[in-house]
Amino acid sequence: MSDKDIKKATRHVNQNEGLIFERSSPGKKAYRLAPLDVPEVDYKKVLGAAAREDLGNMPEVSEMEIIRHFTRLSTWNYAIDLGMYPLGSCTMKYNPRVNEVVARLYGLAEAHPYQPEKISQGALRIMKTLSEALIEITGMDAITLQPAAGAHGEMTGILLMRAFLQSKGNPRKKILIPDSAHGTNPATAAICGYAVENLKSNAHGMVDISALAAQMNEDVAGLMLTNPNTLGIFEQEIHKIADILHEKGGLLYMDGANMNALVGKTRPGDFGVDVMHLNLHKTFSTPHGGGGPGCGPVACKKFLEPFLPQPVMVEKADGTLGFDYNRPQSVGRVRMFYGNFGMHVRALAYILANGPDGLRQTTEDAVLNANYIRKKLEGDYELPYKSASMHEVVFSDRIQAQKGVKTGDIAKRLIDYGFHPYTVSFPLVVHGALMIEPTESESLEELNLLVDAMKSIAREAEEDPEMVKNAPYMTRVSRLDETAAARKPVLRWRPAQAQSASE
Ligand SMILES: *Cc1c(COP(=O)(O)O)cnc(C)c1O
Repeated sequence: MSDKDIKKATRHVNQNEGLIFERSSPGKKAYRLAPLDVPEVDYKKVLGAAAREDLGNMPEVSEMEIIRHFTRLSTWNYAIDLGMYPLGSCTMKYNPRVNEVVARLYGLAEAHPYQPEKISQGALRIMKTLSEALIEITGMDAITLQPAAGAHGEMTGILLMRAFLQSKGNPRKKILIPDSAHGTNPATAAICGYAVENLKSNAHGMVDISALAAQMNEDVAGLMLTNPNTLGIFEQEIHKIADILHEKGGLLYMDGANMNALVGKTRPGDFGVDVMHLNLHKTFSTPHGGGGPGCGPVACKKFLEPFLPQPVMVEKADGTLGFDYNRPQSVGRVRMFYGNFGMHVRALAYILANGPDGLRQTTEDAVLNANYIRKKLEGDYELPYKSASMHEVVFSDRIQAQKGVKTGDIAKRLIDYGFHPYTVSFPLVVHGALMIEPTESESLEELNLLVDAMKSIAREAEEDPEMVKNAPYMTRVSRLDETAAARKPVLRWRPAQAQSASE
Protein backbone atom coordinates (compact mmCIF):
# COMPACT_ATOMS: atom_id res chain seq x y z
CA MET A 1 0.00 0.00 0.00
CA SER A 2 1.35 3.40 -0.91
CA ASP A 3 1.38 6.42 1.44
CA LYS A 4 -1.29 7.87 -0.79
CA ASP A 5 -3.57 4.87 -0.26
CA ILE A 6 -3.12 5.04 3.50
CA LYS A 7 -3.81 8.73 3.44
CA LYS A 8 -7.00 8.15 1.53
CA ALA A 9 -8.13 5.33 3.81
CA THR A 10 -7.54 7.40 6.95
CA ARG A 11 -9.05 10.61 5.65
CA HIS A 12 -11.90 10.46 8.13
CA VAL A 13 -9.44 10.96 11.00
CA ASN A 14 -6.83 12.93 9.12
CA GLN A 15 -7.25 16.45 10.33
CA ASN A 16 -5.84 18.33 7.41
CA GLU A 17 -7.84 16.72 4.65
CA GLY A 18 -10.55 19.05 3.48
CA LEU A 19 -12.50 16.01 2.33
CA ILE A 20 -13.57 15.04 5.78
CA PHE A 21 -15.17 18.39 6.47
CA GLU A 22 -17.65 18.22 3.62
CA ARG A 23 -20.12 15.41 4.29
CA SER A 24 -23.00 16.48 2.15
CA SER A 25 -24.62 14.32 -0.46
CA PRO A 26 -27.95 14.94 -2.18
CA GLY A 27 -31.19 13.80 -0.60
CA LYS A 28 -30.03 13.21 2.97
CA LYS A 29 -32.09 14.79 5.73
CA ALA A 30 -31.53 15.24 9.44
CA TYR A 31 -35.24 15.41 10.18
CA ARG A 32 -38.39 13.49 9.49
CA LEU A 33 -41.78 15.19 9.31
CA ALA A 34 -45.13 13.60 9.90
CA PRO A 35 -47.24 13.15 6.73
CA LEU A 36 -49.07 16.30 5.69
CA ASP A 37 -52.61 16.29 7.08
CA VAL A 38 -53.64 19.80 6.01
CA PRO A 39 -54.17 21.20 2.48
CA GLU A 40 -50.87 22.02 0.77
CA VAL A 41 -50.20 25.73 0.09
CA ASP A 42 -47.84 27.41 -2.33
CA TYR A 43 -45.22 28.85 0.04
CA LYS A 44 -44.02 31.32 -2.58
CA LYS A 45 -47.47 32.87 -2.62
CA VAL A 46 -47.63 32.99 1.17
CA LEU A 47 -44.14 34.38 1.70
CA GLY A 48 -43.95 36.61 -1.36
CA ALA A 49 -40.58 38.33 -1.60
CA ALA A 50 -39.43 36.69 1.63
CA ALA A 51 -39.45 33.23 0.01
CA ARG A 52 -35.87 31.98 -0.35
CA GLU A 53 -34.83 29.91 -3.30
CA ASP A 54 -31.08 30.23 -2.86
CA LEU A 55 -30.72 27.46 -0.31
CA GLY A 56 -29.82 24.83 -2.85
CA ASN A 57 -26.21 24.79 -1.72
CA MET A 58 -26.90 23.97 1.90
CA PRO A 59 -25.30 20.76 3.13
CA GLU A 60 -27.52 17.72 3.11
CA VAL A 61 -26.57 15.41 5.94
CA SER A 62 -28.18 12.94 8.31
CA GLU A 63 -28.81 13.65 11.97
CA MET A 64 -25.96 11.38 13.01
CA GLU A 65 -23.56 13.10 10.62
CA ILE A 66 -24.42 16.47 12.10
CA ILE A 67 -23.92 15.21 15.63
CA ARG A 68 -20.61 13.60 14.74
CA HIS A 69 -19.49 16.72 12.89
CA PHE A 70 -19.98 19.07 15.83
CA THR A 71 -18.80 16.58 18.42
CA ARG A 72 -15.64 15.98 16.38
CA LEU A 73 -14.99 19.72 16.05
CA SER A 74 -15.41 20.16 19.80
CA THR A 75 -12.67 17.58 20.43
CA TRP A 76 -10.24 19.51 18.25
CA ASN A 77 -10.25 22.37 20.72
CA TYR A 78 -8.29 22.76 23.91
CA ALA A 79 -10.45 23.64 26.90
CA ILE A 80 -10.10 24.53 30.55
CA ASP A 81 -12.07 21.35 31.22
CA LEU A 82 -9.31 19.33 29.54
CA GLY A 83 -6.25 20.82 31.15
CA MET A 84 -4.34 23.76 32.52
CA TYR A 85 -4.30 27.24 30.98
CA PRO A 86 -1.19 28.85 32.48
CA LEU A 87 -2.09 32.01 30.58
CA GLY A 88 -0.53 34.87 32.56
CA SER A 89 -2.65 37.96 33.22
CA CYS A 90 -5.84 36.06 32.31
CA THR A 91 -6.41 34.20 35.62
CA MET A 92 -7.87 31.11 33.99
CA LYS A 93 -9.12 29.61 37.22
CA TYR A 94 -11.70 26.88 37.66
CA ASN A 95 -15.29 28.06 37.34
CA PRO A 96 -17.19 25.99 39.90
CA ARG A 97 -20.21 24.23 38.37
CA VAL A 98 -22.43 25.40 41.20
CA ASN A 99 -22.11 28.94 39.78
CA GLU A 100 -23.67 27.67 36.57
CA VAL A 101 -26.48 25.95 38.43
CA VAL A 102 -27.30 29.15 40.30
CA ALA A 103 -27.13 31.33 37.18
CA ARG A 104 -29.58 28.99 35.44
CA LEU A 105 -32.23 29.13 38.17
CA TYR A 106 -35.44 29.93 36.39
CA GLY A 107 -36.23 33.18 38.20
CA LEU A 108 -32.75 34.53 37.53
CA ALA A 109 -32.07 33.23 34.02
CA GLU A 110 -35.52 34.31 32.79
CA ALA A 111 -35.68 37.66 34.59
CA HIS A 112 -36.41 40.40 32.07
CA PRO A 113 -34.68 43.76 32.45
CA TYR A 114 -37.97 45.57 31.74
CA GLN A 115 -39.90 43.75 34.42
CA PRO A 116 -41.03 46.14 37.17
CA GLU A 117 -38.74 46.76 40.11
CA LYS A 118 -41.24 45.36 42.55
CA ILE A 119 -41.07 41.90 41.01
CA SER A 120 -37.28 42.12 40.47
CA GLN A 121 -36.35 42.39 44.13
CA GLY A 122 -34.45 39.09 44.18
CA ALA A 123 -32.29 40.04 41.20
CA LEU A 124 -31.70 43.51 42.63
CA ARG A 125 -30.77 42.01 46.01
CA ILE A 126 -28.14 39.86 44.28
CA MET A 127 -26.64 42.94 42.63
CA LYS A 128 -26.73 44.84 45.91
CA THR A 129 -25.13 42.01 47.90
CA LEU A 130 -22.43 41.59 45.25
CA SER A 131 -21.80 45.35 45.26
CA GLU A 132 -21.37 45.33 49.04
CA ALA A 133 -19.01 42.35 48.91
CA LEU A 134 -16.84 43.97 46.22
CA ILE A 135 -16.77 47.27 48.10
CA GLU A 136 -15.59 45.40 51.19
CA ILE A 137 -12.96 43.44 49.23
CA THR A 138 -11.56 46.54 47.51
CA GLY A 139 -11.87 48.97 50.43
CA MET A 140 -13.73 51.47 48.26
CA ASP A 141 -16.98 53.39 48.90
CA ALA A 142 -19.17 52.98 45.83
CA ILE A 143 -19.41 50.79 42.75
CA THR A 144 -21.07 50.28 39.37
CA LEU A 145 -21.65 46.81 37.92
CA GLN A 146 -22.44 48.10 34.42
CA PRO A 147 -19.15 47.70 32.49
CA ALA A 148 -19.01 44.50 30.46
CA ALA A 149 -15.23 43.92 30.45
CA GLY A 150 -11.99 45.00 32.06
CA ALA A 151 -11.22 47.47 29.27
CA HIS A 152 -14.78 48.80 29.51
CA GLY A 153 -14.27 49.28 33.26
CA GLU A 154 -11.05 51.18 32.58
CA MET A 155 -12.89 53.52 30.26
CA THR A 156 -15.63 54.05 32.82
CA GLY A 157 -13.09 54.71 35.58
CA ILE A 158 -11.10 57.22 33.56
CA LEU A 159 -14.36 58.96 32.56
CA LEU A 160 -15.11 59.32 36.30
CA MET A 161 -11.71 60.89 36.84
CA ARG A 162 -12.23 63.20 33.91
CA ALA A 163 -15.70 64.25 35.06
CA PHE A 164 -14.39 64.94 38.56
CA LEU A 165 -11.43 67.01 37.34
CA GLN A 166 -13.72 68.82 34.91
CA SER A 167 -16.05 69.69 37.82
CA LYS A 168 -13.03 71.31 39.48
CA GLY A 169 -12.51 73.37 36.32
CA ASN A 170 -9.81 71.48 34.39
CA PRO A 171 -9.90 67.89 33.07
CA ARG A 172 -6.12 68.07 32.47
CA LYS A 173 -4.23 66.65 29.48
CA LYS A 174 -2.19 63.54 30.26
CA ILE A 175 -2.31 60.13 31.89
CA LEU A 176 0.87 58.42 33.05
CA ILE A 177 1.17 54.71 32.28
CA PRO A 178 4.06 52.41 33.27
CA ASP A 179 5.86 50.54 30.50
CA SER A 180 4.71 47.22 31.99
CA ALA A 181 1.01 48.06 31.50
CA HIS A 182 -1.59 46.00 29.66
CA GLY A 183 -2.24 47.38 26.17
CA THR A 184 -5.80 48.31 27.13
CA ASN A 185 -4.53 51.01 29.52
CA PRO A 186 -3.03 53.39 26.93
CA ALA A 187 -5.97 52.64 24.61
CA THR A 188 -8.38 53.64 27.38
CA ALA A 189 -6.55 56.88 28.16
CA ALA A 190 -6.55 57.79 24.47
CA ILE A 191 -10.24 57.02 24.00
CA CYS A 192 -11.03 59.24 26.99
CA GLY A 193 -9.22 62.12 25.33
CA TYR A 194 -5.90 61.98 27.17
CA ALA A 195 -2.36 61.96 25.88
CA VAL A 196 -0.41 58.95 27.17
CA GLU A 197 2.94 59.49 28.84
CA ASN A 198 5.11 56.45 29.38
CA LEU A 199 6.59 55.87 32.82
CA LYS A 200 9.77 53.77 33.02
CA SER A 201 10.10 50.87 35.44
CA ASN A 202 13.16 50.64 37.68
CA ALA A 203 15.58 47.68 37.87
CA HIS A 204 13.20 45.88 40.27
CA GLY A 205 10.33 46.01 37.77
CA MET A 206 8.44 48.61 39.81
CA VAL A 207 7.44 52.22 39.22
CA ASP A 208 10.50 54.46 39.33
CA ILE A 209 9.54 56.89 42.09
CA SER A 210 11.91 59.67 41.03
CA ALA A 211 10.74 59.42 37.41
CA LEU A 212 7.15 59.66 38.63
CA ALA A 213 7.92 62.71 40.77
CA ALA A 214 9.67 64.36 37.83
CA GLN A 215 6.82 63.66 35.38
CA MET A 216 3.96 64.56 37.73
CA ASN A 217 2.57 68.05 37.28
CA GLU A 218 -0.73 69.90 36.97
CA ASP A 219 -1.22 68.69 33.37
CA VAL A 220 -1.41 65.09 34.56
CA ALA A 221 -4.88 63.77 35.37
CA GLY A 222 -3.55 60.64 36.97
CA LEU A 223 -1.68 57.36 36.82
CA MET A 224 -3.08 54.03 35.60
CA LEU A 225 -1.34 51.37 37.60
CA THR A 226 -1.75 47.61 37.69
CA ASN A 227 -0.92 46.22 41.12
CA PRO A 228 0.60 43.72 41.32
CA ASN A 229 1.87 44.80 37.95
CA THR A 230 2.06 42.63 34.86
CA LEU A 231 5.44 41.30 35.98
CA GLY A 232 3.57 39.80 38.95
CA ILE A 233 5.39 42.23 41.27
CA PHE A 234 3.68 44.20 44.02
CA GLU A 235 4.40 47.95 43.95
CA GLN A 236 6.06 48.27 47.33
CA GLU A 237 6.01 52.07 47.32
CA ILE A 238 2.33 52.27 46.50
CA HIS A 239 1.61 54.74 49.34
CA LYS A 240 4.33 57.05 48.08
CA ILE A 241 3.04 56.73 44.51
CA ALA A 242 -0.44 57.77 45.67
CA ASP A 243 0.98 60.71 47.67
CA ILE A 244 2.98 62.04 44.72
CA LEU A 245 -0.16 62.05 42.56
CA HIS A 246 -2.47 63.47 45.19
CA GLU A 247 -0.10 66.30 46.13
CA LYS A 248 -0.43 67.66 42.59
CA GLY A 249 -4.19 67.07 42.41
CA GLY A 250 -3.95 63.91 40.29
CA LEU A 251 -5.76 60.62 40.83
CA LEU A 252 -4.61 57.03 41.15
CA TYR A 253 -6.44 54.56 38.89
CA MET A 254 -5.81 50.89 39.58
CA ASP A 255 -6.23 48.23 36.93
CA GLY A 256 -7.55 45.50 39.23
CA ALA A 257 -7.26 42.62 36.78
CA ASN A 258 -4.63 41.13 39.09
CA MET A 259 -6.77 41.18 42.24
CA ASN A 260 -6.37 37.41 42.45
CA ALA A 261 -3.10 38.23 44.22
CA LEU A 262 -4.69 40.58 46.78
CA VAL A 263 -8.22 39.49 47.72
CA GLY A 264 -8.50 39.07 51.48
CA LYS A 265 -4.94 40.24 52.10
CA THR A 266 -4.87 43.95 51.31
CA ARG A 267 -7.27 46.53 49.88
CA PRO A 268 -6.58 49.12 47.17
CA GLY A 269 -8.85 51.58 49.01
CA ASP A 270 -6.45 51.37 51.96
CA PHE A 271 -3.31 52.00 49.92
CA GLY A 272 -4.36 55.18 48.15
CA VAL A 273 -6.29 54.07 45.07
CA ASP A 274 -9.12 56.44 44.07
CA VAL A 275 -10.83 54.33 41.41
CA MET A 276 -10.32 50.85 40.00
CA HIS A 277 -11.95 48.08 38.03
CA LEU A 278 -12.28 44.40 38.78
CA ASN A 279 -12.47 41.58 36.26
CA LEU A 280 -15.21 39.31 37.58
CA HIS A 281 -14.35 36.99 34.70
CA LYS A 282 -10.86 36.59 36.11
CA THR A 283 -10.75 36.93 39.87
CA PHE A 284 -14.30 35.88 40.64
CA SER A 285 -14.56 32.74 38.55
CA THR A 286 -16.91 33.54 35.73
CA PRO A 287 -16.08 31.88 32.40
CA HIS A 288 -14.08 33.92 29.92
CA GLY A 289 -12.41 33.64 26.58
CA GLY A 290 -13.93 33.07 23.19
CA GLY A 291 -15.69 36.41 23.29
CA GLY A 292 -18.19 35.38 25.98
CA PRO A 293 -19.73 37.96 28.29
CA GLY A 294 -17.51 39.56 30.91
CA CYS A 295 -17.98 42.01 33.72
CA GLY A 296 -15.69 44.81 34.83
CA PRO A 297 -17.24 46.60 37.83
CA VAL A 298 -15.72 49.97 38.76
CA ALA A 299 -15.27 50.81 42.43
CA CYS A 300 -14.39 54.31 43.60
CA LYS A 301 -13.97 56.59 46.58
CA LYS A 302 -16.82 58.72 47.90
CA PHE A 303 -15.81 61.89 46.03
CA LEU A 304 -16.24 60.11 42.67
CA GLU A 305 -19.63 58.59 43.47
CA PRO A 306 -21.76 61.42 41.95
CA PHE A 307 -20.16 60.71 38.57
CA LEU A 308 -20.93 56.96 38.45
CA PRO A 309 -22.94 55.70 35.47
CA GLN A 310 -26.67 55.99 35.99
CA PRO A 311 -28.99 54.51 37.08
CA VAL A 312 -27.61 53.87 40.57
CA MET A 313 -29.21 51.33 42.87
CA VAL A 314 -30.85 52.72 46.00
CA GLU A 315 -32.48 51.16 49.03
CA LYS A 316 -35.85 52.80 49.62
CA ALA A 317 -37.42 53.70 52.97
CA ASP A 318 -39.62 50.59 52.86
CA GLY A 319 -36.56 48.34 52.43
CA THR A 320 -37.15 47.58 48.75
CA LEU A 321 -34.52 48.20 46.09
CA GLY A 322 -34.86 50.37 43.04
CA PHE A 323 -32.94 52.61 40.66
CA ASP A 324 -32.22 56.32 40.87
CA TYR A 325 -32.08 57.94 37.42
CA ASN A 326 -31.73 61.47 38.71
CA ARG A 327 -27.96 61.76 38.67
CA PRO A 328 -27.10 65.17 37.20
CA GLN A 329 -23.31 64.67 37.43
CA SER A 330 -23.29 61.09 36.07
CA VAL A 331 -21.01 60.26 33.14
CA GLY A 332 -24.08 58.54 31.69
CA ARG A 333 -24.91 54.97 30.97
CA VAL A 334 -22.07 52.76 29.74
CA ARG A 335 -24.09 49.60 29.16
CA MET A 336 -27.72 48.83 28.46
CA PHE A 337 -29.75 47.83 31.50
CA TYR A 338 -27.57 46.85 34.47
CA GLY A 339 -24.62 45.04 32.94
CA ASN A 340 -24.18 41.30 32.44
CA PHE A 341 -26.43 40.08 35.23
CA GLY A 342 -25.52 36.39 34.77
CA MET A 343 -21.93 37.31 35.64
CA HIS A 344 -23.12 39.05 38.81
CA VAL A 345 -24.89 35.88 39.89
CA ARG A 346 -21.87 33.68 39.25
CA ALA A 347 -19.46 36.03 41.03
CA LEU A 348 -21.70 36.31 44.08
CA ALA A 349 -22.12 32.51 44.21
CA TYR A 350 -18.33 32.19 44.18
CA ILE A 351 -17.80 34.82 46.87
CA LEU A 352 -20.46 33.41 49.18
CA ALA A 353 -19.36 29.80 48.66
CA ASN A 354 -15.79 30.70 49.66
CA GLY A 355 -16.48 33.23 52.38
CA PRO A 356 -13.73 35.53 53.70
CA ASP A 357 -11.43 32.70 54.78
CA GLY A 358 -11.89 30.82 51.53
CA LEU A 359 -11.13 33.90 49.44
CA ARG A 360 -8.00 34.56 51.48
CA GLN A 361 -6.92 30.96 51.03
CA THR A 362 -7.50 31.30 47.29
CA THR A 363 -5.12 34.25 47.18
CA GLU A 364 -2.49 32.43 49.22
CA ASP A 365 -2.72 29.32 47.05
CA ALA A 366 -2.50 31.34 43.83
CA VAL A 367 0.67 33.05 45.06
CA LEU A 368 2.11 29.78 46.38
CA ASN A 369 1.51 28.02 43.05
CA ALA A 370 3.20 30.78 41.04
CA ASN A 371 6.18 30.75 43.37
CA TYR A 372 6.43 26.97 43.18
CA ILE A 373 6.75 27.19 39.41
CA ARG A 374 9.22 30.04 39.69
CA LYS A 375 11.45 28.07 42.05
CA LYS A 376 11.27 24.89 39.94
CA LEU A 377 12.03 26.62 36.63
CA GLU A 378 14.46 29.37 37.55
CA GLY A 379 17.46 27.24 36.59
CA ASP A 380 16.00 26.40 33.19
CA TYR A 381 14.64 29.77 32.11
CA GLU A 382 16.00 33.24 32.77
CA LEU A 383 14.21 35.28 35.42
CA PRO A 384 14.69 38.89 34.31
CA TYR A 385 13.35 40.49 37.51
CA LYS A 386 14.28 39.00 40.85
CA SER A 387 11.68 40.86 42.95
CA ALA A 388 9.21 38.63 44.80
CA SER A 389 6.50 37.13 42.60
CA MET A 390 2.85 37.31 43.51
CA HIS A 391 0.28 35.31 41.52
CA GLU A 392 2.26 35.05 38.27
CA VAL A 393 5.86 34.77 37.20
CA VAL A 394 7.56 36.16 34.12
CA PHE A 395 10.58 34.41 32.59
CA SER A 396 12.40 35.28 29.38
CA ASP A 397 13.66 33.13 26.50
CA ARG A 398 17.21 34.56 26.73
CA ILE A 399 18.86 31.17 27.36
CA GLN A 400 16.92 29.37 24.60
CA ALA A 401 17.25 32.28 22.17
CA GLN A 402 20.98 31.56 21.99
CA LYS A 403 19.94 28.46 20.02
CA GLY A 404 17.38 30.39 18.02
CA VAL A 405 14.40 29.13 20.05
CA LYS A 406 12.00 31.94 20.96
CA THR A 407 9.19 32.21 23.49
CA GLY A 408 6.63 31.54 20.73
CA ASP A 409 8.41 28.29 19.81
CA ILE A 410 8.48 27.11 23.42
CA ALA A 411 4.76 27.89 23.69
CA LYS A 412 4.01 25.88 20.53
CA ARG A 413 6.00 22.94 21.85
CA LEU A 414 4.10 23.15 25.15
CA ILE A 415 0.93 22.34 23.18
CA ASP A 416 2.45 18.96 22.30
CA TYR A 417 2.86 18.30 26.00
CA GLY A 418 -0.87 18.77 26.51
CA PHE A 419 -0.99 22.32 27.88
CA HIS A 420 -2.44 25.55 26.64
CA PRO A 421 0.47 27.96 26.07
CA TYR A 422 1.44 30.51 28.68
CA THR A 423 1.21 34.19 27.67
CA VAL A 424 3.78 34.92 24.96
CA SER A 425 5.84 38.14 24.60
CA PHE A 426 3.95 40.08 27.28
CA PRO A 427 4.65 42.24 29.21
CA LEU A 428 6.62 44.20 26.65
CA VAL A 429 9.26 45.33 29.17
CA VAL A 430 10.64 41.79 29.05
CA HIS A 431 12.20 40.80 25.75
CA GLY A 432 10.88 37.34 24.80
CA ALA A 433 8.60 37.03 27.83
CA LEU A 434 7.07 33.78 29.09
CA MET A 435 4.33 34.75 31.51
CA ILE A 436 2.92 31.94 33.64
CA GLU A 437 -0.08 32.16 35.94
CA PRO A 438 -1.16 28.78 37.32
CA THR A 439 -3.98 30.13 39.57
CA GLU A 440 -5.00 28.47 42.82
CA SER A 441 -7.08 25.88 40.97
CA GLU A 442 -4.22 23.60 39.94
CA SER A 443 -3.06 20.75 42.14
CA LEU A 444 0.55 19.96 42.99
CA GLU A 445 0.38 17.01 40.57
CA GLU A 446 -0.75 19.26 37.71
CA LEU A 447 1.91 21.88 38.52
CA ASN A 448 4.55 19.15 38.44
CA LEU A 449 3.35 18.06 35.00
CA LEU A 450 3.78 21.62 33.73
CA VAL A 451 7.21 21.90 35.36
CA ASP A 452 8.32 18.60 33.80
CA ALA A 453 7.06 19.72 30.39
CA MET A 454 8.85 23.09 30.62
CA LYS A 455 12.09 21.41 31.75
CA SER A 456 11.85 18.89 28.96
CA ILE A 457 11.37 21.67 26.41
CA ALA A 458 14.37 23.54 27.80
CA ARG A 459 16.42 20.38 27.21
CA GLU A 460 15.02 19.96 23.71
CA ALA A 461 15.86 23.59 22.90
CA GLU A 462 19.44 22.84 23.90
CA GLU A 463 19.79 19.53 22.08
CA ASP A 464 17.45 19.82 19.09
CA PRO A 465 16.41 23.44 18.56
CA GLU A 466 15.07 22.77 15.04
CA MET A 467 12.55 20.30 16.43
CA VAL A 468 11.20 22.88 18.89
CA LYS A 469 11.07 25.53 16.19
CA ASN A 470 8.74 23.39 14.10
CA ALA A 471 6.36 22.37 16.91
CA PRO A 472 3.56 21.57 17.44
CA TYR A 473 3.32 18.08 15.98
CA MET A 474 0.30 16.70 17.82
CA THR A 475 -2.33 19.19 16.75
CA ARG A 476 -4.85 19.25 13.90
CA VAL A 477 -2.96 22.09 12.30
CA SER A 478 0.55 23.27 13.02
CA ARG A 479 1.99 26.73 12.40
CA LEU A 480 -0.72 29.03 11.18
CA ASP A 481 -0.55 32.46 9.65
CA GLU A 482 -1.48 34.24 12.86
CA THR A 483 -1.83 37.64 11.22
CA ALA A 484 -4.26 36.34 8.61
CA ALA A 485 -6.12 34.41 11.33
CA ALA A 486 -6.67 37.68 13.20
CA ARG A 487 -7.27 39.94 10.19
CA LYS A 488 -9.22 37.62 7.91
CA PRO A 489 -10.79 35.02 10.16
CA VAL A 490 -12.98 32.40 8.50
CA LEU A 491 -15.70 32.03 11.08
CA ARG A 492 -18.42 30.19 9.22
CA TRP A 493 -19.01 27.62 6.59
CA ARG A 494 -20.11 28.81 3.18
CA PRO A 495 -21.45 26.80 0.29
CA ALA A 496 -18.64 26.00 -2.11
CA GLN A 497 -20.26 27.92 -4.98
CA ALA A 498 -21.02 31.08 -3.03
CA GLN A 499 -17.53 30.98 -1.56
CA SER A 500 -15.79 30.91 -4.91
CA ALA A 501 -18.15 33.61 -6.22
CA SER A 502 -17.24 35.97 -3.37
CA GLU A 503 -13.51 35.43 -3.73
C1 LIG B 1 -7.32 41.14 31.20
C2 LIG B 1 -6.71 42.44 31.52
C3 LIG B 1 -7.30 43.64 31.11
C4 LIG B 1 -8.49 43.72 30.18
O1 LIG B 1 -9.62 43.02 30.59
P1 LIG B 1 -10.73 42.60 29.49
O2 LIG B 1 -11.84 42.04 30.30
O3 LIG B 1 -10.06 41.58 28.63
O4 LIG B 1 -11.11 43.81 28.73
C5 LIG B 1 -6.73 44.82 31.52
N1 LIG B 1 -5.61 44.83 32.27
C6 LIG B 1 -5.00 43.69 32.67
C7 LIG B 1 -3.75 43.76 33.52
C8 LIG B 1 -5.52 42.45 32.30
O5 LIG B 1 -4.90 41.32 32.69
